[in-house]
Amino acid sequence: MTHNELKITTNSPEETRELGTRIGELAQPGDVILLVGELGAGKTCLTQGIAWGLGITDYALSPSFVIMRELYGRLPLYHLDLYRLENPEEIIDLGLDDYLYGSGVCVVEWADRGLEILPLENLLIKITSTGDRRDFQLIPSGEHYREMIGKLTKNPVRGKS
Ligand code: ADP
Ligand code: MG
Repeated sequence: MTHNELKITTNSPEETRELGTRIGELAQPGDVILLVGELGAGKTCLTQGIAWGLGITDYALSPSFVIMRELYGRLPLYHLDLYRLENPEEIIDLGLDDYLYGSGVCVVEWADRGLEILPLENLLIKITSTGDRRDFQLIPSGEHYREMIGKLTKNPVRGKS
């Protein structure tokens, strides 16, 4: 039951990217990070930080109609955005499970639209917003992600492992 959940608050997009960078630095092959939060919550902002943490320098913001983007850093980053998904089965129809169960790092925006199909072991990040404040609730499922939360709890600042 140690490290079962972590709550972090940020007060600017920079701080959110910083948190993402730290997560990206800790990410390992096959990791699945699920993001849940309303439009404008900061899912893409956090993902940008994760990309930086993976050593991806050419991250550009893209519109939500792209369902999957592949970027290359220390590990591949598969950035999925399920905003336009009509039913979870589409994940299989589109072959997205190859990425979800692959050896890159998968970050899934609007993960609540596909929860039935998404991997059971994951790091779920719920984001709520008030003004410029963003509250992140990090919920690990599985021992691997509990360890990740443990490392984040110990050293929430980037550049330390
Ligand atoms: P989503 O992908 O969840 O729809 P985005 O990351 O695209 O959200 O957008 C978040 C918006 O909120 C951006 O316009 C950003 O500038 C703004 N913002 C304000 N404060 C924060 C914060 N603390 N963290 C992240 N984004 C913030
Ligand atoms: Mg987004």
